[in-house]
Amino acid sequence: MSQQFQVKGTKATYIIYDKVLGKGAYGVVLLAQAVNSVNQFAAKIISKKSLSLTDIVNLRNEINIQSKLSHPNIVSMVDAFEDNEYLYMLLEYCNGGCLFTNIQLSGPLREEKAYKYFVQIVQAVQYLHSKNVLHRDIKLSNLLLTHEDQIKLADFTWSTSISMGYVAPQICGTLEYMPPEVIKNGFQNEKLDIWSLGIVLYEMLHNDLPKNGQFFIKHGISEECKQLMKQMLEVETYKRPSTSDLLSSSWIKKFQRNNGLTINTCRSLSGITDKLGSPQKTTLLGSPMGSPLRTAFGSPFGSPMTSPLNSPLGKCTFGSKHVPTEPVSKQRVSTHKLC
Ligand code: AMP
Repeated sequence: MSQQFQVKGTKATYIIYDKVLGKGAYGVVLLAQAVNSVNQFAAKIISKKSLSLTDIVNLRNEINIQSKLSHPNIVSMVDAFEDNEYLYMLLEYCNGGCLFTNIQLSGPLREEKAYKYFVQIVQAVQYLHSKNVLHRDIKLSNLLLTHEDQIKLADFTWSTSISMGYVAPQICGTLEYMPPEVIKNGFQNEKLDIWSLGIVLYEMLHNDLPKNGQFFIKHGISEECKQLMKQMLEVETYKRPSTSDLLSSSWIKKFQRNNGLTINTCRSLSGITDKLGSPQKTTLLGSPMGSPLRTAFGSPFGSPMTSPLNSPLGKCTFGSKHVPTEPVSKQRVSTHKLC
């Protein structure tokens, strides 16, 4: 980590190292450290030159929402500021990589391991939904790990507030994790995140995504788990369980009993039926999804702004200039990326 520069934020001055942690839709994420402190952070650094007004709306949204969240399974934002060239978001550092890469390396997870991650993911989403926030881009590459193997939900680019029980229809997120109602740009509510959770659980257990809209479940997966995935991947949104239903499901309860863990559920169990079918080598869950390609929609959405902005960050407080020793990459990548 020889190359480095300093940048003054609103809460501290940060040393930014040239260690690349990852690349996202808008910029690069580098390792950072507060001056005179051992605290390390992930600095998301975005070149202002290449931003469209839609990008600005998305970034402002990400900062406004993420800065208000506080949950052990959600990456916290510790600072946000800008200088003439770049926007900076200082995030809690997760040094265990993302679930996508971890599972690529380890292969499919056993049910018990998947359960340990899944409970944390659902608790993060339960918290979001209790705050009337939808994430809208839940996927393995947005699930980071700490060195203690704790899950942290990241990347709030597509998150939005929900009011009156629904959000304005928008095609956003990542195609493979998108529920039918988002692909069709139809009625959308918090259940869109539940579909993505269903894909996440499927992917953790198979190290693969459903192919051609067919959910073949491999041999050896328990009936409780199959039923849970089936419920999350219901085409009808009202049939999908809520986060509280998920945490009260028989699959979660089974492992909870074995591990003696306590799970924080906010609401009561509702509507989970636990009809176990006969074990088969593979189970097919019907779905209208098209071919799940590992591609993502870009960001042609959101309401364009009509007036030029003084600051791309809007309400955020500004820091001061930095002197980079090396240019920061401005490369834009698909929202489905390796980390
Ligand atoms: P994003 O722009 O949020 O999509 O992040 C792009 C990539 O940067 C992620 O896939 C991770 O590899 C890495 N990254 C983002 N946030 C963090 C973080 N808080 N800690 C460690 N790595 C991160």
